[in-house]
Amino acid sequence: MYNEQLCLSGAGDVIMELNAYAKALSAVHGAENVFNYSIGNPDLRPPRSVYDAIRAVLEEEDQMAVHGYGPALGLPETREAVAAHIRERFGAPLTAENIYMVAGSCAGLAIAVRALVKPGDEVILIAPYFTEYPVFIEAAGAKPVSVPADPSTFYPDVDAIGRAITPRTKAIILNTPNNPSGAVYPEEILRKLTDLLKRRAVANGRPIYLISDEPYREIVFTGREQPYLMDLYDDTIVSYSFSKSLSLAGDRIGYLAFGDKLAFRKQIMAAAVNAGRLLGHTCAPTLFQKILPRCIGDTADLERYRENRDLLAGHLEACGFDIVPPEGTFFLLMKSPVPDAGVFARLAAERQRLIMVPTDAFGLPGYVRLAFCVSPDMIRRSLPAFTDLAREYGLTD
Ligand code: PLP
Repeated sequence: MYNEQLCLSGAGDVIMELNAYAKALSAVHGAENVFNYSIGNPDLRPPRSVYDAIRAVLEEEDQMAVHGYGPALGLPETREAVAAHIRERFGAPLTAENIYMVAGSCAGLAIAVRALVKPGDEVILIAPYFTEYPVFIEAAGAKPVSVPADPSTFYPDVDAIGRAITPRTKAIILNTPNNPSGAVYPEEILRKLTDLLKRRAVANGRPIYLISDEPYREIVFTGREQPYLMDLYDDTIVSYSFSKSLSLAGDRIGYLAFGDKLAFRKQIMAAAVNAGRLLGHTCAPTLFQKILPRCIGDTADLERYRENRDLLAGHLEACGFDIVPPEGTFFLLMKSPVPDAGVFARLAAERQRLIMVPTDAFGLPGYVRLAFCVSPDMIRRSLPAFTDLAREYGLTD
């Protein structure tokens, strides 16, 4: 009759559900009295260059070129602009041939996973991980294998990853700067990890692909530039998104990059195009492909996230909460003062109208995630609610 699996409670997207709940609470109590830290939906304006580019592109005569279907892999000039940007910024020798334009990193990841795995394959995730990774892996018939990060740093535990690799390991998904931990993985750990993957791929007699999910590459507070993973590891596929750097989350634009040294690159790109097709991804939005060459390399005013982080993290620490200070992204992990973070989050929502996401669905029980890509005003208004919450749990006087 229908797909019962998709109706099971818990099958839904907890972040979207909490965001909808926050909206419903706002309708009752007024938006200024609800503190919605649920979703990573950037409140920053895109940079000026994006508006200028949209205006210029909308003026173009050829409507079909702006609003029509484009080629499955993307517009040639956009693919070339992306490749040129990567060449200049990271030195990686890519051309348009290496780029597949996609409707955001979710689409990119779903496509990349589908292109790589067969039923029975395993894909390693470092917990905590973005909630959608297991969804994409399981939908492709493969098995997510969760390996906890080092609990003291939230960096990958390379020895534990070594123990999790089996002959069925097809890929590993890496996300740094990390959602939800805010960790920015140090280069020496990335080198140790990619050295391990090289050795184990040889032992397995087949590649272990690294999918590098990079929507937060530009949002780093430590000054620590992330290496380009293709430089460290040939079998890397980069999944990039402009949702956060250009603040265009709803406009759905990103790309997959497949380096020339990627084993079976041509076959994987052909599989990716067909994976896109079977997932209903006809082409990335043409309008936003057209604007990219005019604004690629620009960013929204990302410094605002550092100010938000300092304001929020400073207050939470002063209240006695146990937090993980974010090194990047716009997410902050806070330890639940009671073992069940779901109970903590529910009571905080009901009593203080603080909407935070329990991180069980990120493979990390016992924490909540706060998305601070919100207005500084909302953060300031929410501070007394956090103080009250801390009092309820005896963390502050
Ligand atoms: N990957 C990570 C780690 C994310 O946090 C997100 C969005 O929050 C995505 C991928 C998907 O981003 P988009 O599909 O908007 O590009």
